[in-house]
Amino acid sequence: MSIAENVAAVKANIRAAAVAAGRDPASVQLVAATKMNDADRVRQAIAAGVDICGENRVQEMLEKNRQGAYEGAPLHFIGHLQKNKVKQVVGLASLIHGADSRELLEVISRTALNRGLVQDVLLEVNIGEEASKSGFRPEEIPGVLEYVSTLPGLRVRGLMAIPPICAFPEENRPFFCRMEKLFVDNGEKKYDNVSMDFLSMGMSGDYTEAVACGANLVRVGTAIFGARDYSK
Ligand SMILES: *Cc1c(COP(=O)(O)O)cnc(C)c1O
Repeated sequence: MSIAENVAAVKANIRAAAVAAGRDPASVQLVAATKMNDADRVRQAIAAGVDICGENRVQEMLEKNRQGAYEGAPLHFIGHLQKNKVKQVVGLASLIHGADSRELLEVISRTALNRGLVQDVLLEVNIGEEASKSGFRPEEIPGVLEYVSTLPGLRVRGLMAIPPICAFPEENRPFFCRMEKLFVDNGEKKYDNVSMDFLSMGMSGDYTEAVACGANLVRVGTAIFGARDYSK
């Protein structure tokens, strides 16, 4: 299957899952997780109609950006962002998905202010409460949003999560549904610098489950590009 055929199939699955859940299919955006795929393959995905490109690694993103890989699509940073790499990402990625600590939020805000920008971010939630994963605990979110209201260089646009690895996609549904509740509940109260617009969850194995539970950004790599070759 070509990248174009894969993108068409993923978009059809998203549409069907949204309709089945009584949602507007146009409200769900497809983020192509482009890590380890070169500029030419990224361009093919954009030409095939992915809405956004999501990159994981800062060096790889800078390199492919120099090659013009992302022309025609917005660029998001979806990986784990280290504080010492914030300056390379702020202003280049229109949305940073995985803000996972107060320290990182502070650095992003300060960096953006120095450049005269406001950086959009999502708060990463450790929804499975796994020791191995980064992200805020669900009950921490209200306090983090209070904190964000003191950081004028950023705007929180929503939440992001990567649920525990599971054997069957349906097993993730409780985590996705818990995320949806967290997203809705935390969107009710108004905070400065916060606008709860995006719920980023779902990958190749489980994006239809995520859409059923309200995801409006799904991050899909393998189902678009095929398996990544980690031996290279
Ligand atoms: C790689 C990656 C994805 C996509 O994973 P697939 O299983 O290949 O679809 C989604 N989100 C993040 C944060 C990733 O690093």
